[in-house]
Amino acid sequence: MSAEYTRSAFRWRDGKLTLAKMDAPLDIVWSRPLPGGSEPSTVTVSKDAAGRWFVSLLIEETITSLAPVERAVGVDAGITALATLSTGEKIVNPRHERRDRRRLAKAQRALARKEKGGGNRAKARLRVARVYARIADRRRDHLHKVTTRLVRENQVIAVEDLTVRNMVSNRSPARAISDAAWRELRSMLEYKAAWYGRTLVVVDRWFPSSKLCSTCGALRDKMPLNVRTWECPCGAVHDRDVNAARNVLAAGLAES
Ligand SMILES: [Zn+2]
Repeated sequence: MSAEYTRSAFRWRDGKLTLAKMDAPLDIVWSRPLPGGSEPSTVTVSKDAAGRWFVSLLIEETITSLAPVERAVGVDAGITALATLSTGEKIVNPRHERRDRRRLAKAQRALARKEKGGGNRAKARLRVARVYARIADRRRDHLHKVTTRLVRENQVIAVEDLTVRNMVSNRSPARAISDAAWRELRSMLEYKAAWYGRTLVVVDRWFPSSKLCSTCGALRDKMPLNVRTWECPCGAVHDRDVNAARNVLAAGLAES
């Protein structure tokens, strides 16, 4: 559920928000500081499935493009790592995510055991929603840091279009979280690249990024998922994900 308040329905004074018909300002825990001197034009109050209240403010701001840089990067989406860069760097999942995922699986199993319509089932469902909300919060925070850094450091960022993966993947909780993280990462890269004058290139989803040797260009027939490193007849030894990220970068640069 959510409610929207336009400018006449709230008061904003010294960083304190008071909604119409309320005597005192709301007691808000801010997720990030507001830009100095900014005035919200719309306020949205909502409650999530975990029973937490949120206030979001729409603020108009002028964003200046960053100075151009020479660097470009390819990004490969992972399951164990969040993403692998063409530079060889692996961006890991946020701290505690592995533990939170185990908790989520446990809460989901407990929910599955509860009888339909019972009070315990509602409680179990709320527990699942809370664990999921915590994972999502930590992940979003982490993704903001990662995407801001990628956009600052690089002029061109190449990513793979992974829509096809969703059709063939099994829907394990870990997998669903990885896919959601990737979609969120991509959408953040999209709007931040647009804000700061960078180019995001989305490489065709049929591009064989993991089967191609990034050194000599030879294409392999097969690349089973369990193969993490491999050697090409040309002598190059590849980390699977780094090689894929390099190919995504090359294809992205060719396209842009
Ligand atoms: Zn090769």
